[in-house]
Amino acid sequence: MRQNPSPVALAGPADIPSLDRVLGAAPMQALLDAYGRTQVVAGLRDHLAALRADALAGRLVSGRVETGAIVHELAAALKKATEPRLRVVYNLTGTVLHTNLGRALLPDEAVASVVRALTAPANLEFDLDSGGRGDRDDLIEDLLCELTGAEAATVVNNNAAAVLLMLNALADRREVVVSRGELVEIGGAFRIPDIMKRAGAKLVEVGTTNRTHARDYEEAIGPRTAMLMKVHCSNYAITGFTKSVDVAEVARIAHARGVPMTVDLGSGTLLDLTQWGLPREDTVRDTVQAGADLVTFSGDKLLGGPQAGLLVGRADLIRKIKKNPLKRALRVSKLTLAALEPVLALYRTPEFLPERLTTLRLLTRPQRLIQAAADRLRDTVQHAVGAGYAVQAAPVFSQIGSGALPADHLPSHALAIRHAGSGRPGRHLARLETLLRGLPRPVIGRLADDALWLDLRCLEERDEPGFIAQLAQPLA
Ligand SMILES: *Cc1c(COP(=O)(O)O)cnc(C)c1O
Repeated sequence: MRQNPSPVALAGPADIPSLDRVLGAAPMQALLDAYGRTQVVAGLRDHLAALRADALAGRLVSGRVETGAIVHELAAALKKATEPRLRVVYNLTGTVLHTNLGRALLPDEAVASVVRALTAPANLEFDLDSGGRGDRDDLIEDLLCELTGAEAATVVNNNAAAVLLMLNALADRREVVVSRGELVEIGGAFRIPDIMKRAGAKLVEVGTTNRTHARDYEEAIGPRTAMLMKVHCSNYAITGFTKSVDVAEVARIAHARGVPMTVDLGSGTLLDLTQWGLPREDTVRDTVQAGADLVTFSGDKLLGGPQAGLLVGRADLIRKIKKNPLKRALRVSKLTLAALEPVLALYRTPEFLPERLTTLRLLTRPQRLIQAAADRLRDTVQHAVGAGYAVQAAPVFSQIGSGALPADHLPSHALAIRHAGSGRPGRHLARLETLLRGLPRPVIGRLADDALWLDLRCLEERDEPGFIAQLAQPLA
């Protein structure tokens, strides 16, 4: 026998209090103090209109027209509407330099410097020696030259901008010779042929996808050639029957014909990373020494700093680049310079880098420490996800990310969460992934092989208390 549900008392439009009456109610004061009158009145107006619509539709439960209930619902709506859109998350994807999660994390020195420079006037373009106008590039040029062995340096908003500017300043309506094996696309909108077109340069492709020879470059040089260019194959590797021409040889070919040779290095590491057990990657200094006339690279990849595009190389070419109007359009803010200077300065003391440069600290974190974290956190996560899932600590490989050394992997440790029941696990894992993403500080993992993987490389010990606290309650 089915019983009738108990009747619910409904309210009509006339039962809804006026805006002024709710505004004058004592519990409103806290909302007015927190959100200000403008937002509160607008929010309240919307809320009362919604109540009226529900009343007319015959579905307004009488309890909702009481002042306490209205204030409560309004508070929730205001909180939701005013939450910052940019939120911090836990990056447990296993990709350290994750472009969608903001790439490199700044070291404390850089953060402190940004706060100082943004809350007080600073000598951004003011020469403190002469009292005259300064150039914002001067703040980091000497340091960049010292660290790379280049004659001169400049900085723009990101490496894509650096490449665009370099091509426009040096190759407008002229030809740029690039190997077909290096016509890369880096994350969606950055494709070398497109950037080339936008910069006004004419791309001259040489060689084939897998093999390019010195003679290919030699034969491509003509009266309209502005430069020979090499591009780091950041996010893929060509293996098998391959041949490419190294920077030194392309530079020699270019110089023999009186044209410059440039390199888009992508990540641009400043020091040999093999000393910390990481894979070998040509440094900016190596590339300058090999004869490149200009090298461009990112600030927020392996370098570990803020988003920026750095250009280093021959003084006459840098001067030309700085005179190009695009330089002004692509210039960096003081925020960037304030962060970049202390990060570059850290490289003067390489012995401290693995501890102080956040990116390097994460990349070199020993697997045994990550495994210990997995063992410490397993029970917490198991309790939070409930008996419907099984949580196991398991070895995995992390990736550097952002196209750096795509074929190389770092031994790490993860919590692997699998659906405990029978049947297809996909839906259950997707649901769990959504719940973790919905936490106050979203936890971002990686779905693969019928498991949700939480790679703990980037969850440092100081992050653990916060991570544990929000998993204290079982997930819904
Ligand atoms: C990442 C990358 C870029 C783009 O750099 P952004 O700093 O993201 O603009 C350009 N070229 C190469 C080779 C890269 O690896």
